[in-house]
Amino acid sequence: MNSKRALEIFESLCAIPHGSGNEEAVSKFIYSFATERGLWAMRDEANNVYIKKPATKGYENSAPVLIQGHMDMVCEKEEDCVHNFETDPLRLVYDGDILKAEGTTLGGDDGVAVAYALALIESDSVEHPPLEVLITTDEEVGMGGASMVKPEYIDARIMLNLDIEEEGRFNVGCAGGRKVSLHLPAVSESCELNSYVKISVKGLKGGHSGEEIDKERANANVIMARVLDGVLRECDIRLTKINGGSKDNAIPRLCECVVVCADCDVAIASVNKVKRAITDEYKYTDPDMEITAEATEGGTCFSKEVTENIVTVLLLIPNGIQNMNLELAMPETSNNIGVVTTTADEVVITSALRSSVLSRKLKLYYQIERLGAAMGGYTTYKGDYPSWEYQADSPVRSKCVKVFKDMFGTEPVVETVHAGLECGIIMEKIPDMDCISFGPEIKDIHTPQERLYISSFERMWNFIVEVLKSLR
Ligand SMILES: [Zn+2]
Repeated sequence: MNSKRALEIFESLCAIPHGSGNEEAVSKFIYSFATERGLWAMRDEANNVYIKKPATKGYENSAPVLIQGHMDMVCEKEEDCVHNFETDPLRLVYDGDILKAEGTTLGGDDGVAVAYALALIESDSVEHPPLEVLITTDEEVGMGGASMVKPEYIDARIMLNLDIEEEGRFNVGCAGGRKVSLHLPAVSESCELNSYVKISVKGLKGGHSGEEIDKERANANVIMARVLDGVLRECDIRLTKINGGSKDNAIPRLCECVVVCADCDVAIASVNKVKRAITDEYKYTDPDMEITAEATEGGTCFSKEVTENIVTVLLLIPNGIQNMNLELAMPETSNNIGVVTTTADEVVITSALRSSVLSRKLKLYYQIERLGAAMGGYTTYKGDYPSWEYQADSPVRSKCVKVFKDMFGTEPVVETVHAGLECGIIMEKIPDMDCISFGPEIKDIHTPQERLYISSFERMWNFIVEVLKSLR
């Protein structure tokens, strides 16, 4: 038995539309695949599928193993592609070692997990302990399926999550997170000053607030606060509005504000005075950063106190990496001040907090909450997700590293990710689960260029087979 059957199953999967939120048909397909082969299977109300297959001969007393992944895919297509993700099968293209879909995402993320899992439960030649399968829904849009998983249907305490798209990389931990909004009261009033200046911070690189938080890139909202702080030391200004960033989990690339002052030439001169040192600090990470100031029109403004409060809060909310995991040389705790918006009576500052250590995520949250309260504001949060904390002692990790070295003669890379994974949610429900994530090489996931390397798919199949065999 090689990976050929798994690839055939992957092809069948691609014939069934299965974007996030449209998983009913694929969920039934996975369920029926198991029941037609006489296996126990269940679908829950979130369309998650659970399957159990007895151990093969000689493994009856071994600890059960869970194979886990998600059935939904990201639906992205080329601009000129007419593909309908609700109804059309993907059009697969084989090109040498590459499998892709014509004009669309392939859904290798995470269809490969489904294909491997179903090939394993069908196989009568792979040796394995009691095998369980959990395929979730809606991973790509907030991990909704995982959060509905019923732990009472899972006996295994060893989990192989197959949602990492880089061969030779083992993932052994992920960050938890929380989206936090600090609300500052900011009511506009008429003011005696009448010279308006628009200040812009632009041309920044930005990036993912988890995976790229360690690149020391500038945050447009924080840079704006520093510019305003510099100007406030030189002359009397009032903010009239401030808006920066568009997503809490993206490092903001643009921030704009309008201030009012007695003489716009003085304010513009003081912006120009502070900007050189700041752009110089970021000459390597954000060489295209621009800080501009120009005269503009305006009406009402915030009071002196509110203006000061906004600048204080933006400067004092912790931003960037707060703690490192020294053993893995990875960010452990971070914050990204992603979005600043001016509403009718508030300025709202929204951050994406991440930490693989719950107490440190909470510490960061409490810092922001206290700062908000001290400034006469308040804090709200949503989108809480749990971390998967790195375990110094993980038997499944040791086993996988050994099997990998024996098979391929090289050391795998063992890492954690500074972003959310389903493993965190599942391990919150089953805290004594020993878990590892890996998978075959898939490039450019979530884009129409997504492509699976067939030789890698084969190697990772053989690797899973060897791991299962070793878990006697
Ligand atoms: Zn995925």
